[in-house]
Amino acid sequence: MDCLFCKIIQGEIPCYKVYEDKNVLAFLDINPSSKGHTLVIPKVHIKSFLDLPDSQVADIFLAVKKIAENIKSKLNADGLNVGLNVNKAGGQVVDHLHIHIIPRWKNDGGRDVQSIIKNPPKEELEKVLNEIKM
Ligand code: 5GP
Ligand code: ZN
Repeated sequence: MDCLFCKIIQGEIPCYKVYEDKNVLAFLDINPSSKGHTLVIPKVHIKSFLDLPDSQVADIFLAVKKIAENIKSKLNADGLNVGLNVNKAGGQVVDHLHIHIIPRWKNDGGRDVQSIIKNPPKEELEKVLNEIKM
């Protein structure tokens, strides 16, 4: 399979490894949005967030939390953005699930997750709720 991140896992493409365990690899993003920008990936090829089996959710997100705490503390960051782009429409370029950890500092000029898109619905919130309520 021609997957960039699988090649990184196999060691065919080098990376700056931040953390590794049985299920998870974390490495520096090659084009960092801020100092310490790290990608956390499952070691098995999973295309996108919604393809992640329930049985693997805890493994990967416990690792994300641990890595995020470590980065924040070592770099003395004031905050973080933790997120993932889902599918092409959501900005996903590499089709191997990865969670971005992006350190943030006061007055670093960055914005918040909500600034990704400003396209509010024309309908009332109650109508939207009726469409998605579980
Ligand atoms: P996406 O837009 O798919 O959520 O993010 C993909 C991320 O992978 C981008 O931030 C990009 O900089 C990073 N990236 C792409 N190719 C490589 C690579 O070969 N090595 C590393 N370390 N990061 C990569
Ligand atoms: Zn892969």
